[in-house]
Amino acid sequence: MEFNFPTRIIIKRGCVSENADRLSSFGKRCLIVTGKSSAKLCGALDDVTNALDTVNVNYKIFDKITQNPLFSDCRAGAAQARDWGAEFIIALGGGSPLDAGKAIACLAPNPDAGEKEMYAQTFRNPPLSVVAIGTTAGTGSEVTQVAVITGSDGRKKSFRADSAFPALALGDPRYTEFMPENVTRATAADALSHCIESYFNNTANEFSRLFSIRGAKLIADIFKSFPDDGRLTQTQRDSLYLASVFGGIAISVTGTCIPHALGYFLTENHGVAHGTACAFWLPYFIEHNLKYAPDLSACFFKEIQTDPAELERLIGSVAPKMTARVGRAELDGMRERWINNSCLKKAPGNIDNKYLEKLLERAFLTG
Ligand code: NAP
Ligand code: ZN
Repeated sequence: MEFNFPTRIIIKRGCVSENADRLSSFGKRCLIVTGKSSAKLCGALDDVTNALDTVNVNYKIFDKITQNPLFSDCRAGAAQARDWGAEFIIALGGGSPLDAGKAIACLAPNPDAGEKEMYAQTFRNPPLSVVAIGTTAGTGSEVTQVAVITGSDGRKKSFRADSAFPALALGDPRYTEFMPENVTRATAADALSHCIESYFNNTANEFSRLFSIRGAKLIADIFKSFPDDGRLTQTQRDSLYLASVFGGIAISVTGTCIPHALGYFLTENHGVAHGTACAFWLPYFIEHNLKYAPDLSACFFKEIQTDPAELERLIGSVAPKMTARVGRAELDGMRERWINNSCLKKAPGNIDNKYLEKLLERAFLTG
């Protein structure tokens, strides 16, 4: 059994300004990597720049990161980090800027490295340190050694390396109060998906399950009293953020499983939000585990104090509805990709070609 967790995690409302000194311990110049507008809107960018000003750390802002971040933008961010002489990266936003920040941190000190080297993590020079500040309650990327970057082929692919763990994660759940309702719902479903996919993962251990089960219980409780308008209470926001971090810690041990593996093509081909795509597959995964891991399923539902039918109903009522239509030609075109997917092999039971074809047929081609 193994558990390696090098990220210092501080979760508290107001924690960014309270930890300005810690930021200055990473150097005197940093690049802030973020998205177009939400870090400004939710106050996180002001908190970060004010904190840096108080400790005399110079910064530049790279705010070009889009959803499902592109390798080309990460390369542009790395060039800016190099030109500016950044000693560390502050990755600020939802999972997209957080992942992009990790990619920029490893590309910046390695100007000759391209896409291939990034995914394979074969670099001459070690990455810059990353401080990760999440503004969604979903991916848990602020505490994982994984980054999902869309390659030049348009596919979402991840890299995973111990050196990509952020050195520091600052979590202020206040930022999540500014999420639009659909983002709150989709990201919450993503966090639940991480907890479930990790719990039933063949590579799970006692450490990862501590986090995945606690995260799943917190989220199931929130889903039971999820307000119709998506306006969660402060206590629910705090709890959901914590659960998303627990989910991140759990997948840092195990990786993800069927819902993530099959969710990516819905995002790539149909623009479905990441959490919505994962939530679409969750009921199928719950059903799969009832069949192939019945004892584990019994434990899981006892711990989170709900039953499979209720959990499926809750997911259906909270997660945004996946409306993409997928035809046989599209599925046939993706076959090669799924057959070789390592996440699918981590599910209980044996996921062979026949199983996959049946599952996809059930999901899209029959009644
Ligand atoms: P996201 O793609 O980072 O952001 C989604 C939208 O929400 C964007 O429009 C963003 O605005 C906005 N937003 C973010 N925080 C907000 C706030 N506090 N208030 C208002 N709007 C806000 O969403 P995400 O679901 O967090 O991240 C998804 C990505 O993470 C996917 O690419 C997925 O593959 C990846 N992921 C990574 C891991 C990992 O371990 N590394 C795990 C799971 C998923 P802006 O455009 O202005 O930023
Ligand atoms: Zn996810």
